[in-house]
Parts: sequence; structure tokens; C-alpha cells
Amino acid sequence: MLQLKSSSECVKVVVRCRPISEKEISEGYERVVDMFPERGVVEIKNQKNGEVPKQFTFDAVYDWNSKQSDLYDETFRPLIDSVLQGFNGTIFAYGQTGTGKTYTMEGVRSDPERKGVIPNSFEHIFSHIARSENQEYLVRVSYLEIYQEEVRDLLVKDQTKRLELKEKPDVGVYVKDLSSFVCKSVKEVEHVMTVGNQNRSIGATNMNLHSSRSHAIFIITIEHCELGPDNKNHIRVGKLNLVDLAGSEKQKKTGTVGERQKEAIKINLSLSALGNVISALVDGKSSHIPYRDSKLTRLLQDSLGGNAKTVMVANIGPASYNYDESLTTLRYANRAK
Ligand code: ADP
Ligand code: MG
Repeated sequence: MLQLKSSSECVKVVVRCRPISEKEISEGYERVVDMFPERGVVEIKNQKNGEVPKQFTFDAVYDWNSKQSDLYDETFRPLIDSVLQGFNGTIFAYGQTGTGKTYTMEGVRSDPERKGVIPNSFEHIFSHIARSENQEYLVRVSYLEIYQEEVRDLLVKDQTKRLELKEKPDVGVYVKDLSSFVCKSVKEVEHVMTVGNQNRSIGATNMNLHSSRSHAIFIITIEHCELGPDNKNHIRVGKLNLVDLAGSEKQKKTGTVGERQKEAIKINLSLSALGNVISALVDGKSSHIPYRDSKLTRLLQDSLGGNAKTVMVANIGPASYNYDESLTTLRYANRAK
């Protein structure tokens, strides 16, 4: 396959820190994170031992004042543009539960200022299509969830069905029987997404717990027909994966028997496999990229590396009690950089 750029240039890692909450302030917690957006630097200090703050550098850092539109315009927009040209792309939100993954991906859909990358990308895609002349577009969407290494289609009636990953030489890895819906407007995609989100909560006795332990992947496939220099029509297909990952927090040691322990191992498996894949891609020297190690990385194989673009947003909380988890997230992201 033709390499446009080296893999490391196609993987961007950025860090976002959410504002300290009213609750955290009222409980007396202080902010231990400092950010220097102009230099892409984030610093975190350990209040307990007073040592010099630890410092990390990323492609970009977004502090508590950053707007959804800042992230979109600087970090996400170029990726969506390349999907519209027929390349694959993946956006991940990584981080401990409560740090802003869902805020980054979905945000508050009813508020234009607080819309996340998912609704913003819908608008971007359909306004691009509306402006294009003499080109036919076809947009299809799918929505699935990986929970305990099992794949569930969020857009079908029967929510007890589990899907298999298959591989064919001509198409690569795919999800067998995954449903997809043709959408002709922002409204239609939003509707499909709402249905998927409702299905996601069905069967979950505790939605917060469930969403913190499962990976949700919204897939938009954009096909278009282009007249080539040979005066023939060429079909180009770009795929965009929007991934709200499971919480990266360490699973509690309590009740580490049976189901809970199995679950903990499986959640960490996909996240650590993802870290290994991204760091192997960024490193650029590895001849072997360990895609096969988890469902998540296998499923995204054709959208990570090669000609695909990847953005990983590592989300952290600013407060002192999050120090350990925030540091772990920064180290994970730093490895992926
Ligand atoms: P996660 O999905 O990682 O568990 P959420 O996205 O649900 O975290 O965020 C936790 C809380 O913090 C929510 O109330 C959310 O609205 C708020 N929040 C997160 N990031 C931001 C941000 N950048 N600006 C304002 N509020 C935020
Ligand atoms: Mg969430």
C-alpha cells in the first residue's frame, strides 16, 4: 500500500484536562495540573512529597479554558477532511472515568458551544457533501460496543446477540452481520445515534458502571464517486471510527473473584493492546504491529496505521486526588506519542 506519510506523522496524541468541579472545590481539593498550550507541555505535581512537577510534551494540550471548537478546528477537522477524501481515520477518547471522554466525544448536543466531536463531525460531513458538485456521496453508519471482549450491535432490536470478527483476504477484518444505516442528513445520523445510545443502556443495571467498562464505537463510512484523470469514475471509501473507550482506572481489588476479575482483565486487555499498537506505529521501527491481541485493535486494524489518521485524546482530571490516575494516563499517552 502506498504510504503517504510515516505512521508517526499520522498518529496525533493530545491531552485535555477538564475544569475542576464545584464539588471538588467545595471538598477542598486543589488543582495539581498545569498546562502550557503554546509549548504542548503539561505538568503534574505530587502534593504529598513536594518534588519537582513531572513534565510531558504532546502534539497539543488543551486546558480547562479550551473550547470544543478549539479541539475540533485544530485537531479533529484535518482528520475528518482526510476521511472525506477517502482515507480511514480514528478518534479515541482515553482516560479515567469522570475526566471528560464522553464530553469530548459527544458533549452536550443541545448546546452549540458544548457539542463534542461526534455531532460536529456530522455537520462537517454533511455540509461538505452539500457543497460538492457533480459528486455522489453515500453515508452509512454503524454503532457497536465491545464489553468484556464481546461485540454487540447497538442498532438492532435483539440486544442479546453477539457478533463475530471475521477476516477475508480482499476485505480484511470485519464484523460479521453488523448492521448499517444509510443517512442523508445530520438529523438522520443523530437519530441513529440516539437509538444506539438507548440500546446501550438497555440491560445495564447501572449505566455509569456499564459505560465506564465498555468501548463504544460509532462508525461512519463515506463513499463517493470521483471522475479520475482517465475520465472514468472511481469509487473512494473513507471510514471514520469515533471511539469512547472504557475508563482506564485500575479495577478495584475488592471482589477480584469470578466474573468481576475476568471483567477487569478483559477491560485492561483492550486498552493495553491499544497502547501497544499505537506505540508500535509511532515508533515506526516495529515490523510487527500487535493488532490481533484484542477485539478493539483487530476491529480497528484497517483504520490504525498505513494511510489512516489517528487522534488520541488523553483526558485527565485536575484535582489532587486524581494524581495517580492522571500520571498513569500521561504515561500511557506519552508512550503512544
Ligand atoms: P467520562 O466520560 O470520562 O467518564 P464525562 O465526559 O462524563 O467523563 O465528564 C464528567 C463530568 O465532567 C461531566 O459532568 C462533564 O460534563 C464534565 N466535563 C468533562 N469535561 C469537561 C470540560 N472540558 N468542560 C466542562 N465540563 C466538562
Ligand atoms: Mg463516559
